[in-house]
Amino acid sequence: MSDAGFDEWLHAFVADDGYYLECENGHGLLPPRRVCPDCGSTEFSEEALPETGTVETITTVHVPAPAFEADAPYDTAVVDFGPARVTGIVVDAEPGNVGVGDEVAVDVGASETTGADVLVLRPV
Ligand SMILES: [Zn+2]
Repeated sequence: MSDAGFDEWLHAFVADDGYYLECENGHGLLPPRRVCPDCGSTEFSEEALPETGTVETITTVHVPAPAFEADAPYDTAVVDFGPARVTGIVVDAEPGNVGVGDEVAVDVGASETTGADVLVLRPV
């Protein structure tokens, strides 16, 4: 996965045009990659991402990567969107307040540390 590809994908969300890629064997790729990690396929179709997904795992991060130093503590969650999963930082909630099974929406926010665009998850 190239960073340029991720950036492009992230900005599709800003334009309310979030999508994931589905390979010919039905594996969902999120964010998009050039090759399916499950089956090696390079044939993809672009599918609209559902508005909300379900939190599958959630972890509170107290000692973050340098790029997110000023953001800590924060929760990172893996969210199930059906065929695709996405990992992001939970915003609009105190760490620990969002749990497994909660519904969240994908959005684009900015890292408080670097100002870079990051994928964020908002409780709905
Ligand atoms: Zn596949």
